Amino acid sequence: MTSSTQSNQETIQAPCPECEAPVAFSRSPLYGEITECAACECELEVTNRSPIRLELAPEVEEDWGE
Ligand SMILES: [Zn+2]
Repeated sequence: MTSSTQSNQETIQAPCPECEAPVAFSRSPLYGEITECAACECELEVTNRSPIRLELAPEVEEDWGE
């Protein structure tokens, strides 16, 4: 046993931008990865990995033509 009592295993999660429910990942997500909020069922895109930031995934049905 080491003297360290601090765990390095942080829960990988980020708040849903839509409903603010915590969205958990079983592993570190990739940039641009699409996941789904279990609470509001909206599609979310990972836009930052450290810290993890989620944004609503763009609707594929519409062409925003940016
Ligand atoms: Zn949500």
